[in-house]
Amino acid sequence: MSESKDFLRMIVEEDLKSGKYKEVVTRFPPEPNGFPHIGHAKSIVINFGIANDYNGHCNLRMDDTNPTKEDTKYVEALKDAVEWLGFQWGDDVHFTSDYFSKIYDYAVELIKMDKAYVDSASEDETRENRGTVKQAGKRSKYAQRSVEENLDLFERMKNGEFKDGEHVLRAKIDMSAANMKMRDPLLYRIRNVHHFRADNKWSIYPMYDFAHCLSDYIEGVSHSICTLEFENNRDVYNWVLDTLGLTTSRPYQHEFARLGINYTVMSKRKLLELVQGGQVSGWDDPRMPTIAGYRRRGYTPESILNFCDQIGIAKANSMVDVAQLEFCIRDDLNTKVPRVLAVLDPLKVTIVNYEGNEEIDAPYYPHDVPKEGDRKIPFSKEIYIERDDFMENPPKGYFRLTPDQPVKLRHAYIITCKEIIKDTSGNIIEIKAEYIPNSLSGSDTSGIKVKSAIQWVSIAEAKKVEVRVYDRIFKDEAPEGIEDINPDSLKVIKNAFIEPAVITQKPDERFQFERQGYFYFDPIDSTDEHPVFNKIVGLKDSWSKKEKPAKSEAKPQTKKVQVDGEVIAMSEKQQTLFDKYTSIGLNTEVSNTLARDEQLSSFYEETLSELNSPIALANIVTNEVARELKQMQVDELKFSAKQIAELIKMVDDGTISNKIAKQVFEEMVISGENAAQIVENEGLVQISDPSVISPIIDEIIAKNPDNVAKFKAGNTKLLGFFVGQVLKTTGGKANPVVVNELVAKKLGE
Ligand code: ATP
Ligand code: MG
Repeated sequence: MSESKDFLRMIVEEDLKSGKYKEVVTRFPPEPNGFPHIGHAKSIVINFGIANDYNGHCNLRMDDTNPTKEDTKYVEALKDAVEWLGFQWGDDVHFTSDYFSKIYDYAVELIKMDKAYVDSASEDETRENRGTVKQAGKRSKYAQRSVEENLDLFERMKNGEFKDGEHVLRAKIDMSAANMKMRDPLLYRIRNVHHFRADNKWSIYPMYDFAHCLSDYIEGVSHSICTLEFENNRDVYNWVLDTLGLTTSRPYQHEFARLGINYTVMSKRKLLELVQGGQVSGWDDPRMPTIAGYRRRGYTPESILNFCDQIGIAKANSMVDVAQLEFCIRDDLNTKVPRVLAVLDPLKVTIVNYEGNEEIDAPYYPHDVPKEGDRKIPFSKEIYIERDDFMENPPKGYFRLTPDQPVKLRHAYIITCKEIIKDTSGNIIEIKAEYIPNSLSGSDTSGIKVKSAIQWVSIAEAKKVEVRVYDRIFKDEAPEGIEDINPDSLKVIKNAFIEPAVITQKPDERFQFERQGYFYFDPIDSTDEHPVFNKIVGLKDSWSKKEKPAKSEAKPQTKKVQVDGEVIAMSEKQQTLFDKYTSIGLNTEVSNTLARDEQLSSFYEETLSELNSPIALANIVTNEVARELKQMQVDELKFSAKQIAELIKMVDDGTISNKIAKQVFEEMVISGENAAQIVENEGLVQISDPSVISPIIDEIIAKNPDNVAKFKAGNTKLLGFFVGQVLKTTGGKANPVVVNELVAKKLGE
């Protein structure tokens, strides 16, 4: 069970087991000097996640010790972000400034112990005296001051009798310590400025190294989790608490690796430069890697949580590919959001042999059977199609409308081109077409074969909308800041058209515009008269294709034509596969991914020949196997298609859960062992026997009387908590369906 846990949870479990702490208390301690970014999301997920997992709590604490840069608007943004991600911080938000008096008293105590002194040396002198890594430093001559003199000076510093920089308070530790942070670190400095919460009460402010450990202690924090760059500060953290004798159930600091993402800057200071420089419309510009930016763009909290989950927690810094974040949002929206028709670059088509109006029933979730929902799409004589979906002189392999090639209008009829109307400069401005009356989707008896279906809208009923299409904000993989900005990161389309059903939806809703991507109503700039849609993400990772031209050159795919940024026509072979995959129940995205990737589809075909479980196999092949194939060739994989089929068979017949299957897969990746062998060696067989699961549930119910009471009082959300605890206790082996049933039954009793 513990192998799959991250090292922080292992520490926490150990500490609970040994009785070091009765309750896990963590904190998320941002400085309110900017909007939180995706790196903060990782820290939020870790701190709040660990507290939740072990039934403890996590404080949200504003680390407001640097008054010149802080502001209440950032406090609000931080609260919003934590809430939006779905976490709760208990009664109040905490502020380090709440503890200024206590922290001051602790400083006085250190002075009395002769463990801190007021230093009046100049900055230059202080720097010189610090020494180097190889050379010990020299203690300031002011360290000789008597306790009385220090107490007097420190109080007068507090009262505002001195100018900024005239004196500082330093800890008296060790000027020759190998860890430079321990060479009499600064505890307080003079800042005669206004503080956004404490007003002008203080003329001195505590340094991070002094304030942080004490705030943790005051709040009863058990595990103070921070990023690796604080590793050397840990000695100071421990020195302060130990020297002050704050040793009973005191907090300890643990460090994890910061999140870094390519094409992204992750520093509030640098993000502030973009805001102040006007490169973006604000902290919540949909291109910003801030939580507010992702939210406005249309990312869901689930997608960010999944991303944080996937990247895991490590002790070594590494760079994550931004495509992984994009994958997470695509993955989350794929089955969740309705699919509708929109035309972003309209070309008029008049269907000369059609009169009147009809409404066509069309499902919102065409390929995901369990989800229900449909709408009516108005169809009429005059429609718009995408300009790119017609070509007068098409290259080979172009499968949409041409003078000789019919095309299917999605959900509707097949049309053929009869005449091309051009303006005086030769630009195509309209197509005259004919429709085939007996070709309506669902009752098509025309027998006409088309090679693709395209989106369209009826001109009379379509709504004009603005669409904002975003590209990466930095063109450089490892951007420094403003100088690496991508000047084309925002494209505004003023005249896009969508089918009317879209506009009658609730505002906080996302859509898949078929063949275009996922879109979200801009919550700030949208009005009823002027709807604005943000493109959240495309349907597939168009970047990785652009970035790896070498690979496609090496294996030329005969009829591949790049028509626009997103849609590349399929070869006949790919189209055949695509049709086959949709017909056996895969959704369009998965079918598309498989059909277009020869390695993946042949791997998939091989798994299919072993086991008839098309959907589950497609899932593992397009996700897990595809991930491995990004890094190596098929013949380098440790596992075979047959082994994957065996693994999925164990899921299908209930031997193991889906979750365990992923774990087993990770082991297969490394060892190449058979799934059955791994499952047997590690005792991972799913537990479905109620007589085994029942006592575990009883124990968990007995241990959590408060939550039971809350549940009985109506907080039914807690069902998830109990189920989660059971799954956790069994290392994910308990059959979730059985657990759910049993828990519900027992709690209902
Ligand atoms: P920035 O440089 O963006 O201002 P910071 O580290 O100064 O970041 P704080 O507001 O002090 O930001 O951080 C609050 C918490 O978030 C800290 O515990 C910090 O370690 C964590 N954090 C900040 N950036 C990241 C990141 N990229 N990955 C993981 N955790 C982070
Ligand atoms: Mg900071």
